[in-house]
Amino acid sequence: MSDEPNLFETVKKHICTCSLDLQLTPNVEALLKLPMRELHVSVPVRMDDGTIQAFKGFRVQYNDALGPTKGGIRYHSRQNIDTVRGLAALMTWKCALHNLPLGGAKGGVICDPKKLSRKELEMLSRAYIQAICQIIGPDRDIPAPDMYTDQDVMAWMMDQYSLFAGRTTFGVITGKPLSLQGSEGRLDATARGGWHVVGALARDRGLDLKGATVAVQGFGNVGSFAAVLGQELHGCRIVAVSDSSGGIFNAGGLDTRAVLAYKEKTGSVRDFPGSKNITNKELLELGVDILIPAAMEGVINQGNMDRIKAKVVAEFANGPVDNEADEHLRRQGIIVLPDFLCNAGGVIVSYFEMVQNTNLDHWDEQEIHERLEKKMIEAYNAVRDLVASDNVPWRQAAYAIAVSRVVSAMRLRGWV
Ligand code: NAD
Repeated sequence: MSDEPNLFETVKKHICTCSLDLQLTPNVEALLKLPMRELHVSVPVRMDDGTIQAFKGFRVQYNDALGPTKGGIRYHSRQNIDTVRGLAALMTWKCALHNLPLGGAKGGVICDPKKLSRKELEMLSRAYIQAICQIIGPDRDIPAPDMYTDQDVMAWMMDQYSLFAGRTTFGVITGKPLSLQGSEGRLDATARGGWHVVGALARDRGLDLKGATVAVQGFGNVGSFAAVLGQELHGCRIVAVSDSSGGIFNAGGLDTRAVLAYKEKTGSVRDFPGSKNITNKELLELGVDILIPAAMEGVINQGNMDRIKAKVVAEFANGPVDNEADEHLRRQGIIVLPDFLCNAGGVIVSYFEMVQNTNLDHWDEQEIHERLEKKMIEAYNAVRDLVASDNVPWRQAAYAIAVSRVVSAMRLRGWV
């Protein structure tokens, strides 16, 4: 994937800017650009036809100055070690910005999950945990879902780790099913948290979300709930959504619950009755009030940045806007709400899941929703205030706050 976007390079450029802002020494800057630990593993799986296939997997623990590391596991064919490093770094800033007592990590297995049977998916998940079990644990590094890994995968992984530990260890993984000590409110947490940020921006700027037009790229965990909650909680008009096979458009607004049911039945949003098929490229270039990329990194880049017409781009995916496009959109007056501010709802509720697991407790959905909103708004307010006082872009402000917290912990611990 040589001409694919390199998320780690993107993140490192932001660290350079941040390092200047915070007047960090070159040594500290260099440390912030290096993952603390990474494990490269081969993940052997006996396929349904009896052959053995070895997949390549990674676990990157980026920085644990603020606490045990935490981050999702992605199954995707278009990723490499730099994707995982970039995602692990973003997890570090995300936990710091939202004041969680956690560091950042990420895992990935290079595979095409759509080509695996359910049995093969389970074997892959168990083999991956077998390969990384020595470096994870409830007070060490706690994985969670990401692209193409869901609560069933988390259940298998928790079970596999428990076999290794010799006791049931719910706290090693979050995003588990409710009946295995998962948390209420985890499924839609990322999208719900993202809307708290967009809603707060709208309130501050006097924008009315009711009837505002929205396009969402990606219709998985994050994107589908982004569309549904945007319509149901804020009264937005969701005019376009998409998945990996393409998108659909209806200027009058889509019935997002009906699209969800249709995708569950047919496997794709394409050809949804009453809508027009569009490409993912066309979706990104729609003249909407709010554009929510909720799929892959690097989708808004030098190739299409001139054609982005949204007023606000809310990054629910990790790294969807690359550095050149970020700067360009800012010059055009388009507000880009950065990924690790917007999409922290998942890790926040995952953290709530850890707290509940540790205390053998169970919080109801309303309590989760209230605690989530409080955390998201606290971080939003901190970033907004810095944007206003220092006249810097949203991403730069978010980096400054997050990185200064990580560096402060590193200093107090005597690392730098
Ligand atoms: P998912 O696997 O549930 O869904 C991914 C969606 O993206 C699917 O609808 C898929 O069809 C679509 N997609 C894949 N490739 C695409 C392409 N090239 N163009 C358009 N659509 C494409 O994954 P998810 O958990 O919803 O994650 C989406 C993004 O959100 C990722 O960047 C992930 O890192 C980020 N994220 C997820 C969480 C979480 O809690 N799941 C938390 C924070 C951030």
